[in-house]
Amino acid sequence: MKFDILTLFPGMFASPFNESIIRRGIDKLLIDISLHNIRDYATDRHQTADDTPYGGGAGMVMKVEPLAACIEAVKSQNPLSTVVLTSPQGRRFTHNVAVELAQREGLIIICGRYEGIDERIRQLYVEDDISLGDYVLSGGEIAAMAIVDAVTRLVPGVLGSGDSAESDSFSDGLLEYPQYTRPAEFKGIKVPNVLLSGNHEQIRKWRRLESLRKTLTLRPDLLHETTLTVEDRNFLAELEREVDTIDC
Ligand code: SAH
Repeated sequence: MKFDILTLFPGMFASPFNESIIRRGIDKLLIDISLHNIRDYATDRHQTADDTPYGGGAGMVMKVEPLAACIEAVKSQNPLSTVVLTSPQGRRFTHNVAVELAQREGLIIICGRYEGIDERIRQLYVEDDISLGDYVLSGGEIAAMAIVDAVTRLVPGVLGSGDSAESDSFSDGLLEYPQYTRPAEFKGIKVPNVLLSGNHEQIRKWRRLESLRKTLTLRPDLLHETTLTVEDRNFLAELEREVDTIDC
C-alpha cells in the first residue's frame, strides 16, 4: 500500500511514522509512505503557498498552483492512487471507510492548512473527501496520520497473529469485549472467573455477551447496522431481562 502525503509541515510526521505498527509495516515492505512538501512546488522567490481569500475575510487560503503541481507530480508517479482530501466537510472516517480505502492501490492524501484549499483543487483532482469528525482541526496532518494508521492495520500481514484485528471494535459491527491482564485482583476488583477457567467455549460465549453488553450500553446505534446471530439475539434478550430486574 502506497501512501503519499502532501503537506506544508512534513516534520510533523517523523515520530508517529517511526514507531510501532506503522514502522513494522514499513520495515516489512507492506506499506510505503512518502512525504511531499507542497512549498517545494511554489515557483516564486518566497515559495508562497497561501494567499488572502477572494471576497475578503479572515485567514489565508492555500494557493491552487503549488498544490496542483504537487498533486500532478505525485499522481504521475502513482497513476492508480486515489486522491483524498482531508476536510471537515468530507464523509466521516469510520471502520468501513478504512476497509474501503485499504482496498485501493494507494492514497494521495492532501493536508489542508489555514482556511483550507482553493476550491478548484477539489473540482479538478479530489476523488474522496474524508473528515475525522464534526470539529475543526488546525490542519489535515493529524487526519492523515489517523487515516494512515487505521488503514495500515488492515493491510494483510501488518498485524501479527499476536494482535489480530478481527476482534477489534467495529470489525464485526460491535464494540470489543472488556480485556484484562495480570494481576487477577486489583483494588478489590477481580477478573471475571470465566477468563481464568481455560474453558474456551465458555470464554467465547462470555466475550460475545460482554461485547453485546458494551455495544448496547455505549453505542446502541451500532446494533441496528450489524447482522446478529440467533445466539446474539438470545444474549440481548438476556441483557434486557437483567435491565428489567435492576429497574424493578
Ligand atoms: N475553513 C474550513 C476549515 C479549514 S481547517 C472549513 O470551515 O471547512 C484547515 C484544514 O484542516 C482543512 O483544510 C483540512 O485539511 C484539515 N481539517 C480540519 N478539520 C478536519 C476534520 N474534521 N477532518 C479532517 N481534516 C480536517
